[in-house]
Amino acid sequence: MGIKGEDVEKIWADLGMDPAPATGLCVRSVQACPGTSFCKFGKQDSLSLAVQLDRLFSGMSLPNKFKMGISGCPLNCCESWMRDFGAFGKPNGFSVVIGGNSSSIPHIGKLLAEDLTGEEVVAIATKLINYYRENGKNGERMWKFVERMGLEEIKKAILA
Ligand code: SF4
Repeated sequence: MGIKGEDVEKIWADLGMDPAPATGLCVRSVQACPGTSFCKFGKQDSLSLAVQLDRLFSGMSLPNKFKMGISGCPLNCCESWMRDFGAFGKPNGFSVVIGGNSSSIPHIGKLLAEDLTGEEVVAIATKLINYYRENGKNGERMWKFVERMGLEEIKKAILA
């Protein structure tokens, strides 16, 4: 807020970061809450997980835009249930949900797996994104993909 457009490039340079791809049919910048790093309610390290996911996938081309929300606890401040790929922390690990969407036709995501380590979430995200890339139709958003393929089929492909 309050940053002038002409200063944005310089600010990215000062931070030593690449500008995040914000538009197009690709993986968007990963949204994350403070999790155990800064929030008293945090159950898992959402920030570290989000950084890993962002480094691996941000900007990758997919059949449609792909949003990820990583929350540190079930309060879900990052609206993980409403993202194409969401994860939220519980005492025993992360739960992963897929196919959520807000917009004009809201969809609550479906639970894919529970009690996962951060590394396991990254492995599942990798498999899911590759599966979506190979099997998704052009323009098909993740919630439509989940409806067409079926959650059980996706589980077989991703969790086997
Ligand atoms: S989701 Fe939980 S850990 Fe993250 S900011 Fe909200 S209350 Fe804190």
